[in-house]
Amino acid sequence: TTIGADLDATTERFGERDALVESATGRRWNYTEFHREVVTLAAAFLARGVTAGDRVAIWAPNCAEWTMVQYATAKIGAILVNVNPAYRSHELRYLLQQSGSRLLITVPKFKSSDYAAMIEEVVADCPLLASSIFIGTDSWTALLADARLVDRSAVAAAQNLTRADDPINIQYTSGTTGSPKGATLSHRNILNNGFFVGELLGYTEADRVCIPVPFYHCFGMVIGNLACTTHGSAMVIPGPSFEPVETLRAVEEARCTSLYGVPTMFIAELEHPDFDSFDLSSLRTGVMAGSPCPVDVMKQVLDRMGMTEVGICYGMTETSPVSLQTRPDDSVEKRVSTVGRVGPHLEVKIIDTVTGEVVRRGAPGELCTRGYSVMLGYWQSPEMTRDAIDGEGWMHTGDLAVMDGDGYVVITGRIKDMVIRGGENIYPREVEEFLFSHPDIIDAQVIGVPDEKYGEELVACLRLRTGARDLTADEVREFCRGKLAHYKVPRYVHVMDSFPMTVTGKVRKIELREQVRMHSA
Ligand code: ATP
Ligand code: MG
Repeated sequence: TTIGADLDATTERFGERDALVESATGRRWNYTEFHREVVTLAAAFLARGVTAGDRVAIWAPNCAEWTMVQYATAKIGAILVNVNPAYRSHELRYLLQQSGSRLLITVPKFKSSDYAAMIEEVVADCPLLASSIFIGTDSWTALLADARLVDRSAVAAAQNLTRADDPINIQYTSGTTGSPKGATLSHRNILNNGFFVGELLGYTEADRVCIPVPFYHCFGMVIGNLACTTHGSAMVIPGPSFEPVETLRAVEEARCTSLYGVPTMFIAELEHPDFDSFDLSSLRTGVMAGSPCPVDVMKQVLDRMGMTEVGICYGMTETSPVSLQTRPDDSVEKRVSTVGRVGPHLEVKIIDTVTGEVVRRGAPGELCTRGYSVMLGYWQSPEMTRDAIDGEGWMHTGDLAVMDGDGYVVITGRIKDMVIRGGENIYPREVEEFLFSHPDIIDAQVIGVPDEKYGEELVACLRLRTGARDLTADEVREFCRGKLAHYKVPRYVHVMDSFPMTVTGKVRKIELREQVRMHSA
């Protein structure tokens, strides 16, 4: 089936239930109303000459219209191009040209004050782009008005022609390790992934899911939106971008049963001085994903947020995204310390990074995934695709992992982040997890810097609890001594107010290394 046909089926069953709620503005649509908006928008796209396989780019923070565009493009088989909100004019121009987008959907104001002028300048360089449409302005109203030029049966006809394996979406990776890469995904890829994630979370039409993670990224649009619409659950948008208080308020006001976030978001919510003033008693479950979750944070999410069935998902944009997930009936110990087991209809294996052979259980290696979720490829980059997906269909994730005898997987780091000090392989993740147990440390990132004697030396970058006294390198080293092998004890310590982040809330270690290098120079 396709995303459009699936939305039709959900609307048929759950027409009266909430589909979409914008908690900050009070706007809301039940499935019947949401479906009507989506069909209107789909007709408007057809009226503007957008047909199957055409690219429609969207560059906007989270809002209801983002979601409508997602489903409207899917209905007519157009390819939605999710533009990373961190991009600026240079990258936007490149991306619009490379994707050959016909339409750009954006907002009148975003990030910078001369936003509209910048868009105009970029658009002038993109001959294939027919128009740019600004949500909430005259150009948006005019687009919707054009829907009357097209019969609704044309939308149904376009939907019937789309196939499950057609490309539907170009999604960008977070850019944690370098430039973001555009993964081309099909209906089969993301519709199934959203469905199975929702299944394992036990979603029904009674669930209301708070989605503060960006829609441009698979976490928002697949684990969020598609998990909801495949189950008749409500998508709740707390605001255009992540704010801890707005998110907690949305949970309270919309009585959300599920809350999403990367670990840094949950940390910001739990650390917020007003945390205790919110009623979060409606929460049952949620998803933590995107980067390794400190065990202590997971415990607080269980105890202080009452998300007793919360799950950890592991995945990557290239695999739609989720390939490993904890289940609510896994023991708490497994749910806080592993990323769970392989998802339905998928395969995972862990291979030796040198020989490529599958390692024995318990030994570290590179995680590989195979199955329906593996992307069609990187957009117009066959070479990069061949490097990532091997001849047998295995996606090489670049992540290091260990699988136990029962199939539970622990992500131990990224191959690119591994530090080799004096011939010893160090997984920064392990040291970070240990530093987290210090009462004054709220976030810890460990990186390697070049060292004449050892090749590399460890640096601990720390964020401290408000009011805590600065920690010296000696104090940190003292804290580690006797508890970590000597070579894993950080040589240098940097106390920082914030870390360089991606839009998806991940620490950009590549930039952190640069900052530390500048600082020490
Ligand atoms: P880029 O590929 O551009 O460098 P990225 O890999 O961060 O960025 P995404 O596709 O958004 O881009 O993220 C996928 C990666 O996030 C995974 O490869 C993994 O490193 C990390 N990740 C996702 N979920 C988890 C998790 N639950 N635990 C640990 N790491 C995770
Ligand atoms: Mg990646």
